[in-house]
Amino acid sequence: MTVKINLPHNNSYEIFIDKLNELYFDTKVVIVTNPTVSGFHLEYLKTKLSAKELSVVTIPDGEKYKHMETIESILEHCFEKRLDRKSLLIAFGGGVIGDMTGFAASIYQRGIDFVQIPTTLLSQVDASVGGKTGINNKFGKNLVGAFHQPIAVHIDPSMLQTLPKREFGAGVAEIVKMAVTFNKDFFEWLEQNDIREEENLRIAIAKSVETKANVVSQDEKEHGIRAALNYGHTFGHVIENETNYNTYLHGEAVGIGMMMANAASVKLGLMSSDEELRVKQLLEKYDIPTTYKIKDIEDFYEHFFLDKKSLDNKIKFILARGIGDCLITNELKKEDVIDVLKGFSC
Ligand code: NAD
Ligand code: MG
Repeated sequence: MTVKINLPHNNSYEIFIDKLNELYFDTKVVIVTNPTVSGFHLEYLKTKLSAKELSVVTIPDGEKYKHMETIESILEHCFEKRLDRKSLLIAFGGGVIGDMTGFAASIYQRGIDFVQIPTTLLSQVDASVGGKTGINNKFGKNLVGAFHQPIAVHIDPSMLQTLPKREFGAGVAEIVKMAVTFNKDFFEWLEQNDIREEENLRIAIAKSVETKANVVSQDEKEHGIRAALNYGHTFGHVIENETNYNTYLHGEAVGIGMMMANAASVKLGLMSSDEELRVKQLLEKYDIPTTYKIKDIEDFYEHFFLDKKSLDNKIKFILARGIGDCLITNELKKEDVIDVLKGFSC
């Protein structure tokens, strides 16, 4: 199955969801990957790939290496291999590899092409689509980066067979996010089907990618509707931060964050308790956490202002409006938010 993402300035591209096809490139190609992914899947990828000259740069595995030094090492490899402006990078890994490869491609000789071959569920349904690239620094996550769209995304769901169960759940959380905010029919389909089954997984990936592609096509640089993809994230980021990024995977924190956002929706009359329960049950079907004990509510609230999405001291919240629709608002009253947070306190 193929999903097209329509963008201005010749930036449109296709996302292929299927067993990997043969790929031919009449240019120099560098695959960027890490030892985990290459151990499982690099040989397979190489059987599918031909290029004028092919090399591999392997960077250490982990979010903690998503920084400028690693970008330097990717660029150095590109210079050593004498890549030119027509050369191509291939991101072969999860979202960390995708974000860094995209960023390196965006700055190498002022920008070269890159292709995404995402290998985690989260990167297949979310990170590989939409052209946000970047790295972390000591001031926070994803604070340095560029919008740089790939020229193609190749999603091979069979690569997920080696993915640990928790990583799979973290990806499911982002799938649930897209269904709750944009697509009621998809949500109901998710309730009725198990996406751990091969054919269902392919359908769920395709639906999610279609949803994200549609949003990004309307709002590439996040001036409006694209912000809705941050549903669950305003709360989730605080949870990740409070727990020093070592307790929850990002998608797990988003799972809890969606429950917090839904509690706010229920309080404001945007969602029924029954709908809130259905989202919770869907997350729990995949063992995604839905509860959290906040120790200090004021402290939790203050953390919102560290988010790069809070502007002029106003926090942007994405709230589900029932299932399948959402509301982006920065007008939530502090006392309402505090009330919601009390429902998650010790
Ligand atoms: P990740 O890239 O760290 O991958 C998770 C783990 O799974 C890693 O240890 C990785 O080596 C391993 N792995 C990857 N593929 C595997 C496979 N097939 N089998 C076994 N193990 C495998 O994490 P992620 O969840 O894929 O991505 C998170 C990153 O994505 C974050 O840095 C986040 O900021 C970024 N992100 C970016 C966007 C965007 O729009 N650009 C969107 C969402 C997330
Ligand atoms: Mg996310």
